[in-house]
Amino acid sequence: MSLVPFKKMLLDAQKHGYAVPAFNVVNLETVQGITRAAEMEGSPLIIQLYHADLDFAGADFMVSMAETASKHCTVPVSVSLDHGRSYEQAINCIKNGFTGVMIDLSSSDFDENVRTTKEVVEYAHPRNISVEAELGEIFDAAAPVEVRNSGMTDPKMAAEFVSRTGIDALAVSIGTAHGIYSSAPVIDFDRAEEIVKKIGCPTVVHGGSNTPDKDIVHLCKLGVAKINIGTDLNLAFNKGIQEGFRQFGNNAAIREYMNAGQEKLIEAARHKIRLFRTYAHD
Ligand SMILES: [Zn+2]
Repeated sequence: MSLVPFKKMLLDAQKHGYAVPAFNVVNLETVQGITRAAEMEGSPLIIQLYHADLDFAGADFMVSMAETASKHCTVPVSVSLDHGRSYEQAINCIKNGFTGVMIDLSSSDFDENVRTTKEVVEYAHPRNISVEAELGEIFDAAAPVEVRNSGMTDPKMAAEFVSRTGIDALAVSIGTAHGIYSSAPVIDFDRAEEIVKKIGCPTVVHGGSNTPDKDIVHLCKLGVAKINIGTDLNLAFNKGIQEGFRQFGNNAAIREYMNAGQEKLIEAARHKIRLFRTYAHD
């Protein structure tokens, strides 16, 4: 299949009670790994590139890899920018062939966030590109829980934000955070439920790594349609590579330790996808 925008993917997920995995990757081995995991589990997939990894991977390289990966798949595959920092960065990714972008101006004031997000939507939608934005503050998981939970998304403002911008998905702050938690996340499930019911587009949860499986499953039950995973895949890949070097020695062929990394990443990705599909129904 060819690459697709993620809008329909997320609406289908909402309708059928599961969440779409959005996995952060940076190179051929990680793209291949998550694609194989999605294909094995029969799940649609969003290949994501974090904004800070754009220079490392190259937007054009990422699209080429994603396009080739999608041709190997029977499941729908999208390629999207994660936490795009500016209008220009988002548009540049679209020009390079991304089928979705996230524009994250959550640290700007509400009106500025609305204004620039809407401009990205106005550029993207006529070109059949999906747009995700963020409202509320999603912190680094290393911060204490009081900080992590200090910028949660207001459901009413979220509904207003969605109707004023016309976005296809909204990332919200409900108690998850990016990276490795300093202490277990305390998730506001009531808030998550209200957001899912109130806003006029699918809900996205960031910081899905390192979050207890039961919490992830609960969020899927409440109707969250997209969950971002970066750190857990990164850790799994690192672990595999270290094991590869132990097994094959310091003179290992690149394919030997990369393959070991990829195997671990596939296991981690498949585990997440199974969680996301716990309540999947026809
Ligand atoms: Zn994020």
